[in-house]
Amino acid sequence: MRKKIIAGNWKMNKTPKEAAEFCRMIKEKAASNEAEVVFCVPFVDLYPVLEELRGSGIGVGAENMHFEDSGAFTGEVSALMLKEMGVEYVVLGHSERRQYFGETDETVNKKVKKALAAGLVPIMCCGETLEQREAGITIEWVRMQVKCGLLGVSAADAAKVVVAYEPIWAIGTGKTATSEQAQEVCHAIREVLTEMYGKETAEQMRVQYGGSVNAKNAAELFAMADIDGGLVGGASLKEEFVSIVHY
Ligand code: PEP
Repeated sequence: MRKKIIAGNWKMNKTPKEAAEFCRMIKEKAASNEAEVVFCVPFVDLYPVLEELRGSGIGVGAENMHFEDSGAFTGEVSALMLKEMGVEYVVLGHSERRQYFGETDETVNKKVKKALAAGLVPIMCCGETLEQREAGITIEWVRMQVKCGLLGVSAADAAKVVVAYEPIWAIGTGKTATSEQAQEVCHAIREVLTEMYGKETAEQMRVQYGGSVNAKNAAELFAMADIDGGLVGGASLKEEFVSIVHY
């Protein structure tokens, strides 16, 4: 039985002070015995959020990292730095990073491997554009992203990875995929994971849905057979996140 994972992705929101205040306000209400709850936050918020959430049962993640351990990469942060701070998760390959910051399947793959080597749980994002959906290539596209992102990752390591299916047309638009659309792609992801790693590993791996998840649609989405929780953007910045966790 897979444990659901419900992760907030704050994007570039909340100053360190706002982050600490929000966590103080929400931590008891958002903690859950049934689901793994995580806040993925901007780098500068990691320290106050880790401090505030210590002992709460809520995990902390970063929204990106570099694929090298150290060196001349001005402005970047390594997996080792995150791990040493107490960070446990890292979002990799979010569509906003692919769109605005040149993230590719190749860099996502390098980052996934480095995160795993450092003992972080990668939340590896994939998803199609509206144009790709309308052209009928969603499944092929997402299968390829998953295969490339996990290239060279062993089954034992892959079992720790969380795959987040996020149709780009549904991110921050208020336009959610129907539960059937989301299930269809999450099921296809499980199939490609089965081809790559066998049924036992694929059945252990969590596949999330992300894209305008809110308090109203979470229950229906998370009830689908292959959807093991959500990656939540806008709604994770508000108290609404509590209702999503306790869907
Ligand atoms: C996201 O940031 O990954 C996301 C899905 O955003 P939103 O929930 O706001 O669509």
